[in-house]
Amino acid sequence: MRDNLKVTVAASERESIMSVILPKQAGTPEGTLLFRESEEITKLSEGVKIFNSLKKTLDYYGGVGLAAPQIGISKKVFIVNLRPEGKNSDLPDIGLKAYIHPEILGVSEETNVHAEGCLSVFYATVYGEVARPNYLKIRYTDLKGNEHTDEISHPFHARVILHENDHLHGKIFLQRMKQEDFSRLHWEENLDIRKNV
Ligand SMILES: [Zn+2]
Repeated sequence: MRDNLKVTVAASERESIMSVILPKQAGTPEGTLLFRESEEITKLSEGVKIFNSLKKTLDYYGGVGLAAPQIGISKKVFIVNLRPEGKNSDLPDIGLKAYIHPEILGVSEETNVHAEGCLSVFYATVYGEVARPNYLKIRYTDLKGNEHTDEISHPFHARVILHENDHLHGKIFLQRMKQEDFSRLHWEENLDIRKNV
């Protein structure tokens, strides 16, 4: 997921350009995995390998989360990268975190509305408002193979998890929007990730 913040990429981070994967786009033949249920991971080593590819791509293009189908891998893994800063200075310091085999166990009835963008939707140039639950409970496996059940109490953290989890079930944020909100989609061309290529 992409929040509508400016992202700058340091020159030093650009050096391994050839090994960085440009996220697949919805509406292209390479992006068809975005609309499919992804598969289970059978070996932890596979999850770790996918994590490394996701990390490299997210580090390079910026963003607060990325899911395996976005880089052409139809497997149940996503990453979240959140730190307390800017308008989310009250966020817990989560840093970069892997969620393997995530399962949302429950969500709050209370919801909030916030603009979302996506590295796989017009290269992160289009933003639209999505209502999502404020809180949730998630079960997942970490990079060491340990299973956790976390209660996520920050609405933005919950939003990022739900956006990325949707990718594992073949959904993009546009499909979560209310029809009447489409007239308020807005474009942020200065955030186009292709500018980093
Ligand atoms: Zn996304």
